[in-house]
This record gives sequence, structure tokens and C-alpha cells, in this order.
Amino acid sequence: MMKMAPGTVDFTEIFDEYLEAKREDRDRQIGVYYPSEISFPCLRSLFLRYKHPEPPKKTLMRRFYKGDLWHNVMQTILGENRRVTLVEKEKSVRVDVGGFSLHGRLDALIMEPQRQQKYVVEIKTIEAFKYLNHGSGQYQPVPLPKEEHLAQLMFYLKCVGDAEGGLLLYIQKNRFFDEEPFKWFTVKFDGDIYDRMVERAAELHGFLVDGRLPPPEPQHWNGKVCGYCPYGDETGNGLCRKLKGW
Ligand code: SF4
Repeated sequence: MMKMAPGTVDFTEIFDEYLEAKREDRDRQIGVYYPSEISFPCLRSLFLRYKHPEPPKKTLMRRFYKGDLWHNVMQTILGENRRVTLVEKEKSVRVDVGGFSLHGRLDALIMEPQRQQKYVVEIKTIEAFKYLNHGSGQYQPVPLPKEEHLAQLMFYLKCVGDAEGGLLLYIQKNRFFDEEPFKWFTVKFDGDIYDRMVERAAELHGFLVDGRLPPPEPQHWNGKVCGYCPYGDETGNGLCRKLKGW
């Protein structure tokens, strides 16, 4: 039988350290907010990320990285196909609103060559386009597009200014080899959705500046109530529940 040599290489550690080093949310500053998270999850969760930062679970970072890989794939394909022209990708944008600013990075800006019109592309991965409703025992379509994704896209459209519209592209990563791997929605700028997102950012800013704790807003994250929130936990002993308001 082959003898195994003792080794010091731990691929899990290498991978997790790489993800930790890539984290962009370690140095949060009050007054700088991200439309990708303003509309979802709850304000209390966002407030705690600024006031009591905690590293996300390793399993969650791996899950998000899987989404990043899909972004890279789609950006490469948009840059190497003949139907559309990739004008820019990963473009950093910012809007100053009163006492705070909104920051983001759009996934892709493409040009539709026949009509010479630009579109902002926002790429989202979800587990699947259908979910099992445990009450009825039936599979049901996931309601799309999601309001929080539209809010993020409106922010990019506001920043780009001369785009004809936005394309919100969903990829079902766990059922990618089905006949329908993608769903997408073509939208125009909607000032109401944008304004609601800015109002919510202003609300968060107010809580942070005054040091007031927002009320909990338990939400479903892929079917689990507060499932991905670093301040909740299944036993009910997370920081969120220890604070006032439950
Ligand atoms: S545990 Fe739920 S209610 Fe509490 S902060 Fe997190 S998402 Fe909000």
C-alpha cells in the first residue's frame, strides 16, 4: 500500500484565507453605503455590520464566491461575443446624497451595436428559478425580478446617465444545465425605486449617526428566516436577539 507523507499544505485554509483577504467590507465607514445591500437585508443587520463588525461564516463566503465566479464567466463572455460590445466592466460609481454617499461597482456596460444603445448589465445568481413550497408540496417559481436588485440597478443607471436601460440577468447556478439557465429583465430607469433606496440609506445613516438601534426586520434569505445574517443564529442566541426590540 502506498505510504502517505505528512504534509503541511491545507487547501481549505489556503482557499478561506484568500477569500478573507479579498473581503471588501472590512473597513466600513459611517456615511458610505452600498446600494447592493441597502434594500435587503434588514436595517438592523446593516447597522450591526457598521457598529459590531463580524466576519461572515466561511461557508457563506464560499457560497458568495461561487456567485463571483459566475460574474467572471459572464463578463468574459460579454467581452468575447459578436452580438454585443462590452464597453466597461467592474466600473466603480458613486453618488453623494446630502450627508452621505452611495458607492457601487456595476458588473458590465454593454453596447447594442445596431442601435448604438448602451445597457447596464447586473448579474445575479440564485439557487434555482423554482423552489419547493413545503406547505403545498409543489414547486413554485421564485418571484423575479427582486425589488432589491432593481434598486441596485437603478443606482447604476442613475450613475451612468446615458444608458438606454438596464438588463437584470439571473443565473440559476444549481440548475444551470436545465434548458433555461438564464432569465433576464430589460428595465428603464425608475425614479421611484431609486428614491426609495436613497430614503432607506438615509434612514440607516440616521440610525448610525444617532447611535439608535433599528428594529429587527426578520426576513427570508433563500427560504430561511435570517438564515445568512451573522447576527442571528438558529438557537436564538445571536447578537440580534440579545439586543432590545424582539
Ligand atoms: S437576525 Fe434577522 S432580524 Fe436580526 S439583524 Fe439579522 S436579519 Fe435582521
